[in-house]
Amino acid sequence: MISDNEIVSASKHLLMTKVSKHAIFGLLIALTCILVATSLAGFFESGRINLDSMVYAQKTNFALWVLDLMPFLFAMWGQYSSSLMAKEATVVIMDQTSELRAHADAIEYKASYQATHDTLTGLPNRILVFDRMLQAHSSARRDDRPFAVLVMDLDHFKEINDTLGHYNGDRLLKQVATRIKDSVRDIDTVGRLGGDEFAVLLPTISAPEDAEEVAKKLLKALEPQFQIHGINLDVTASIGIAVYPEHGDDVDTLMQRADVAMYATKNARTGYGQYCPSLDANSKRRLSLAGELRQSIETGGLVLHYQPKVSLRTGRIAGAEALVRWQHPEHGLMFPDEFIPLAERTGLIRPLTLWVIEHGLEDCAYWNAQGLNVGVSLNISARELIDPQLPGTFEKFLNIHAVDPSLVVLELTESAIMADPQRALDVMNRLNAMGMKMSVDDFGTGYSSLAYLKQLPVSEIKIDKSFVMDMLQDENDAVIVRATIDLGHNLSMSVVAEGVQDRATWDQLGRLGCDLMQGQFTGMPMECNELIERANQEPAQPTSVYAKG
Ligand code: C2E
Ligand code: MG
Ligand code: MG
Repeated sequence: MISDNEIVSASKHLLMTKVSKHAIFGLLIALTCILVATSLAGFFESGRINLDSMVYAQKTNFALWVLDLMPFLFAMWGQYSSSLMAKEATVVIMDQTSELRAHADAIEYKASYQATHDTLTGLPNRILVFDRMLQAHSSARRDDRPFAVLVMDLDHFKEINDTLGHYNGDRLLKQVATRIKDSVRDIDTVGRLGGDEFAVLLPTISAPEDAEEVAKKLLKALEPQFQIHGINLDVTASIGIAVYPEHGDDVDTLMQRADVAMYATKNARTGYGQYCPSLDANSKRRLSLAGELRQSIETGGLVLHYQPKVSLRTGRIAGAEALVRWQHPEHGLMFPDEFIPLAERTGLIRPLTLWVIEHGLEDCAYWNAQGLNVGVSLNISARELIDPQLPGTFEKFLNIHAVDPSLVVLELTESAIMADPQRALDVMNRLNAMGMKMSVDDFGTGYSSLAYLKQLPVSEIKIDKSFVMDMLQDENDAVIVRATIDLGHNLSMSVVAEGVQDRATWDQLGRLGCDLMQGQFTGMPMECNELIERANQEPAQPTSVYAKG
């Protein structure tokens, strides 16, 4: 690149050459003037114009001497002022050049910043994180020491985004970014890989345990509630750790393995965890599970178990919730938490739900025929709730099995409703118009507003078991349970408590006026025939002395 000094001297030279041309022209005019003046002076003194008269005039006329000096003076003055002008002009050019150059640099910097940074949080993006990993990798390899990468994903971010809106989801991501950045050292790189996934690169660690300490610190930083739109949010995350060289020799492998570790941590709900080779086997297992699930739905590999919903007033079974299980040929009886999320991700939730509706209604018809006149509750996923064909499906199977629609309760989670409220409300209204009841499942774990709940055709709330199980020990949980019961009754809804595991909880719920309960205390999910047998026995619980209201 040409230096500023070189620009100055080149421009100076150019300008001086131009000025010099004009100076030579001036010099010629001056010499012509001297010649004319000398000739005239010679003529006046000797009456002739020739060389002798001109030499004589030059020797004797003092005024001509002064005139002779003029060209030299002008030449020197011209040279001097031209160099001054040239210098001034080039300084101006130089200033403008460096200004232009600074401007170009700023544009270049902005473009490269945008290409390497996330616009929402201002953190390095995936490209820059990889670049920093490459640098960390080469110095770690040279010095023969470890470095670590952590991949962090927020838990249930989709629900927050769906219920509070994308604007508030973005605000949360910004706050999370700030907290993560504040919890690590300046030499560490915090980046956003996309969505709710962040990466933390620790270029200098002395042992893999250091990375675990940082992971703990990050989780701790998320512990204080976030304030979004006047709502206090508890946000948790799952962190996967991969350490060089133990878990991979190149940056791609390390990143991919940190990701595998993060997914495993999310499933195990352990907060953070390091990669280990058996996790790869798990992710392969998940892939092959999807194929097997598709087959099992078609070939009858699923089973429905029923958990009694018991009236706290009479102690009698007042309904039963259908809970699906998968009788896997190798892994044995698998629970919904292990395959419903998989079904939702792979689109298998549609055939699975169809299967559950068909068999749930068939079993309900069966126990009614056996004299157990209670209804069935069916769980409906978010994706199914917005399917405009769902009411038609129910109509078909209600007809086939001759089940009274008023015996059917559909359990929907708050997040399922809030994922696409308008479409969900349309489908809910149609199902409700057919005579079926709606229930809000796992109440308290979502973020739906009470105002919204009031507009829904809902006749039941189920308090999530996480509040019920600890309500006798934890005052906060007790307050939530009491408030939810009052809220449900104020909205003319019946209230079900999930996860009742002992008599003391049963008694307390009775005192609070709760209507129905489900849980280990009155029976975990069981086969259809066992449910009928239970119902035929004397009430498992004595008739409650706590009358409603
Ligand atoms: P859920 O609808 O909230 O069902 C209640 C879960 O709590 C059931 O777990 C039940 O076995 C468990 N539970 C009941 N009482 C107690 C208790 O006293 N203590 C403890 N620790 N647990 C208790 P399960 O059967 O594993 O089902 C888990 C979730 O899977 C269900 O939560 C529901 O969201 C989903 N699910 C189950 N069946 C279906 C289905 O057919 N379709 C869809 N979409 N989801 C389903
Ligand atoms: Mg349920
Ligand atoms: Mg529930």
